[in-house]
Amino acid sequence: MSYGDDAHFETLAVHAGERRPGPEGSVVFPLYQGTVYEVERDTGYHGIKYIRLNSTPSQRYLHDKLAALEGAEAAVATASGMAAITTALHTVLRAGDHLLVSDCLYGGTHDFLTEHAEQFGWEHTFIDPRRPDTWEAARRPNTRAVLVETISNPLMRVPRLREVADFARRNGLVSLIDNTFATPVNARPLALGFDLVLHSATKYLNGHSDVVAGAVLGRAELVERVRTTLNHFGGSLDPHAGFLLARGLKTLALRVRAHNENALALARFLADHPAVAEVNYPGLPGHPDHAHAAELLSGFGGMLSLRLAGGLDVAERMIEALRLPYPAPSLGGVETLITRPAATSHAGMSRGDRERIGITDDLVRVSVGVEHADDLVADFDQALAKATL
Ligand SMILES: *Cc1c(COP(=O)(O)O)cnc(C)c1O
Repeated sequence: MSYGDDAHFETLAVHAGERRPGPEGSVVFPLYQGTVYEVERDTGYHGIKYIRLNSTPSQRYLHDKLAALEGAEAAVATASGMAAITTALHTVLRAGDHLLVSDCLYGGTHDFLTEHAEQFGWEHTFIDPRRPDTWEAARRPNTRAVLVETISNPLMRVPRLREVADFARRNGLVSLIDNTFATPVNARPLALGFDLVLHSATKYLNGHSDVVAGAVLGRAELVERVRTTLNHFGGSLDPHAGFLLARGLKTLALRVRAHNENALALARFLADHPAVAEVNYPGLPGHPDHAHAAELLSGFGGMLSLRLAGGLDVAERMIEALRLPYPAPSLGGVETLITRPAATSHAGMSRGDRERIGITDDLVRVSVGVEHADDLVADFDQALAKATL
């Protein structure tokens, strides 16, 4: 490697994992799309290069880059964020085990647990990851792991992350954290003591809304166990998607900085607007988690949500009147997206479950892109004016 141990994130994003010189002197690591490679004389099973075994040259290159960016010993890429989450859980949980899990989860993770955990013999209990005083009562003799998210969706709540990692270590639990919303630019959960970091790389890591991928990162021994599970379940990432993901990673620092700045500017504008009843963004001093979020995060991310004083009707009119944001779910791309979680990401939950965690029908979520902040603010300004006429 040609950079020092103390290289900054921007430098790692460009240079980590790169082979110098690259094959044929290529500056861009080539896409090895082949499924299989010739075996040498004493290649054992573990030496076989095959895409499903996550061992081909483009996959290993991507793993090295991902690991360096998250500050992890090792990484394995997966076919989606859900593949990362389900494969990691299948690695750490056995039938009869119990999982503590955040009560404000990504919809897909919530639905996976509520619809499938039982068939694997897993028990789970939802906990409020912002209230350390409540966790001990939820722990059982068979509790094996705890799963939280760095920034929750869609209220942007920030758990007591340091306390979660400490609680897990004290009680011999494996701590897992979905770092999709924060990205390693804004949060470093492994440094806080978490065992495994999970990502939907579909979002910020790729950043261009054109790849579905995931990643699991952590200590080499633990990630190797995840990779074995992944090899058996078959959720490997295709090298072509991995090639695009590696390209996206090179600009991660630049993009996330722009997302952070734009979201803060838009959140401040919205918080001051008379038609807006509530803005959920951890970078605002009024956010209930602002103080510890400021200590844990180096940026507050590109996601915010809001409620309008006029409720659902005005929210729908505002979404219609906006010119820049696409009305679409998902997040983390360069373009601004706007959605109502009750109608999209959390539509799988019952209304009762949704409202218990604060996802009312009128809640609007924005994935703030990297357009110019002034243009985004001007667009919301005109859309709010139209919606409240
Ligand atoms: C999107 C998302 C996932 C699932 O990722 P896919 O790539 O769609 O499978 C998991 N966690 C969070 C926080 C997400 O935003």
